[in-house]
This record gives sequence, structure tokens and C-alpha cells, in this order.
Amino acid sequence: MIEFEKKFSDKKIENAIYEKIIPAGEGWMHPLDEGQTLRIVDLKGNQGLDFLCYDLHNPEDHYSATQTIVRQKKLYINTGTVLVTETGKELLEIVADTCTCHETMGGACATESNTVRYGHHTLNMKTCRDTFLMKISEHADKYCKVDLVPNVNLFAQILKLEDGSFEFLDGISKPGSYVEFKALNDTMILISNCPQINNPCSGYAPTPNAIYIWDK
Ligand SMILES: [Zn+2]
Repeated sequence: MIEFEKKFSDKKIENAIYEKIIPAGEGWMHPLDEGQTLRIVDLKGNQGLDFLCYDLHNPEDHYSATQTIVRQKKLYINTGTVLVTETGKELLEIVADTCTCHETMGGACATESNTVRYGHHTLNMKTCRDTFLMKISEHADKYCKVDLVPNVNLFAQILKLEDGSFEFLDGISKPGSYVEFKALNDTMILISNCPQINNPCSGYAPTPNAIYIWDK
């Protein structure tokens, strides 16, 4: 497990203009205006959360794991990371982070990958890809399947093994850990609070997250 220095926020909950609990296995899709700040809290700890973002006014220009990794020359994201799109547009900057490290390679759980990795009995289990599809279907005039690209896994880490493979680690995030994003441009946020029970990214028992937004 990799840890960096924690960066705490000075923002107060009572000043937030928006708050919402995302139950285990549910999703959230919501715009952020330039200058607004979004905090995501891992309420119970050890709860992976799949995260994507888009240029609000041009959804085809989505978060790019590759561009973000190349730009900062590291695989994990944490305080100071700027999440950029395929064209290099800056969408979000991480301005506070008490988990200190989130991963960019594991992708979202899906029915297909579940059945390959964990067996045919997982066929009917809900996945992050299901949640993503349900949320974008509420904005079907602007978003479709091809907009579901490799995502960030917040509050999750993977360990690279000597043979080049990797596996998810358990016990990364503590109860109350949070990460805070400042919108550098108008951005659409898409979240799946991971329902995964077959690997430790959600501690085998998914739990809720909290969302807060502050105006600039
Ligand atoms: Zn998932």
C-alpha cells in the first residue's frame, strides 16, 4: 500500500450548497460549475468509488487516464493532480485528500469481467458499468455507451506484481476519508459507488458515500 501526505480541507459542511448520500451500489451524475468544489467522503471506509468526468459543454471530450498519467508522470492520483480530457482540457484539480492515493488502471467492474475473473455465478450481480449506463441513460441526448471510458477508482489501490499483473488491495481508505476536487472548467461528474463483492475494492461489503458541493 502506498501512502502520501494527507491534505485537509478548510471547507465547512454547514457552508455546502449541496449534499447527498450515495447508497452502496448506486450512482450519481451531476454538473459542477467552474470554481465549485466537490467533496466525496468514504463514510464507512474501504469503499471503492468509480469516477468519470466530462467537459460539460462537449461530453465527447471525456476524462483521459492516459493524458492525466502522462502529464503528471505517475499512475496514482492525489493532491495536486489535474484531471484532463483527451484534448488536454483541464477539468478538475484535487485540492484536498485524506486517503492520499487513488488508482487509474483497474477500470470499472462489469458483468463480462466479473464472469471471467470470478465465475459464471456472478452473471446477475450489479456492476459499476451497469450503474454508469443507467445514469447516462438519464442524459441520453448527450451521452452513450462509447462515453464510458477507463475511469479513476477513488479510495482504491492496486498492487503491481513482479510478473506484470496486478491485484486490488484491501483496507486502503479509513472511515471518513475524503477527496476534494475543484472544477477548473464546467464539468459533468459521473460516479458509481461500487457494488463489487468479489474483490476487496469495497471490502467485500459495499457501504455509502457522502457528496458535498461548495460554491466558489
Ligand atoms: Zn465496481
